[in-house]
Parts: sequence; C-alpha cells; structure tokens
Amino acid sequence: MKIIMLGAPGAGKGTQAKRIAEKWQIPHISTGDIFRANIKNGTELGKEAKQYMDQGLLVPDELTVKILLDRVAQKDCENGYVLDGFPRTIPQAEVLDKELAKLEDAIDFAINVDVPDENIVNRMGGRRACLSCGATYHVQFAAPSKEGICDKCQSELVLREDDQPETVKKRLGVYHEQTQPLIEYYTKKGILKSVDGTQDMEEVFLSIVKILGE
Ligand code: AMP
Repeated sequence: MKIIMLGAPGAGKGTQAKRIAEKWQIPHISTGDIFRANIKNGTELGKEAKQYMDQGLLVPDELTVKILLDRVAQKDCENGYVLDGFPRTIPQAEVLDKELAKLEDAIDFAINVDVPDENIVNRMGGRRACLSCGATYHVQFAAPSKEGICDKCQSELVLREDDQPETVKKRLGVYHEQTQPLIEYYTKKGILKSVDGTQDMEEVFLSIVKILGE
C-alpha cells in the first residue's frame, strides 16, 4: 500500500505516518527527516537544504525529488510506504506519479489531516525535538517522561529552528500557496481522504484505519 500524508506543518501527519508504518509494516519516509539527517552529518545536501529550512521555505524540487525517488527505489519499499512531507508541490506530485506509472503503479491513498491555522500556531510552540535521534514530543500532547530529555536516547530536547513562531507563520503561508493545491490534485484522482486532525491522536488514527481498512 502506498500512502501520502497531506496537511499543514504541525497537523500531526508525522505522528500518524509512524503509526501507519507500524501497523502496516511499511517504511515511514519523511523528507524532512532525511534533510535533518543530512544536516546532522554535515553533507553537501544538508548544507544546501538548511538554508531553506531555517527560513521556513521549501527546499527546491530538484534536490527533493531526487532524494525521494532514490529512497522509494530501495528494496524495503517493495510492498509500499507512507510518505510524510512529500509531495509538497504539484511538480513533485507529478514526478512521483510519472515514475510510478513507469512501473505500472500508483499511489493508493492521499490522507489529508485537516487542522485550522489557529490550532497549528498553538501546537507548534509546544513541539520539542531530539536532534540526536529524531524523536519528537509535545509538551502538552506527547510529553517525554522527563522534561526536556529524550526518552529514547537521553539527549536534550529543543524547539527546532523551523518551529519558532515567526518561521511557523511563514511555513503556513508556504503551505497554503504551494502544498494545499495538492488536495485538489488528489481529489481529482479520486484518492483523497480527509480526517479531522483536531481530534485527539488516537481518534485521528482510528479514522485513518477506517479509511485504509483493517
Ligand atoms: P517537515 O519535517 O516535513 O516539516 O520538513 C521540514 C522542512 O524540510 C520543510 O519546512 C522544508 O523546508 C523541507 N522539506 C521537507 N520535505 C520537503 C519537500 N517535499 N519539498 C521541499 N521541502 C521540503
């Protein structure tokens, strides 16, 4: 099963993508995570991506598409995957569809986790990330057992540069302008399913399970 998660930054699509990946035993592929891993390892790709990410802008399609296509071509993706944060523009979606069509394949579902902007700004201020292992928390909704410390690797948790309030507003603008048109794109293809992302995490997951089938 090949699934795309859509939604504004902070809508909770990453959390849901992880749950889906676990339940259906398919890889969770987050382009944001791939970029962050590259930044951490000091690669050329990381250096270039960081300039855009820190400003709340999208990394150019040329860079993003290549890393995503390389990733989905790996063996563990044979039985499907859940994409989190890709595509974020119409051209990215078109390239993905074209590549899949060459293999006589296609995306099965695009799940839109719908959350109004007001809720997003409040939520993002509470996000905390571990820059060592990539785990994410929320001070209110998914707190670590010890404040400010990662449960998984005991490193210090931080508010990511791109989760700072001013950057969040910029990212929301970018979302509406460049990513939201994908809702219409996948609606036209007949594979868009929306869930109410303001429900609690468990409810959102149950709604998604209903859509995907047990
Ligand atoms: P995320 O963790 O998905 O919120 O992504 C963090 C940042 O990585 C975004 O704000 C973008 O700067 C960049 N990024 C992630 N995925 C993409 C994508 N598909 N296209 C362009 N930029 C992306």
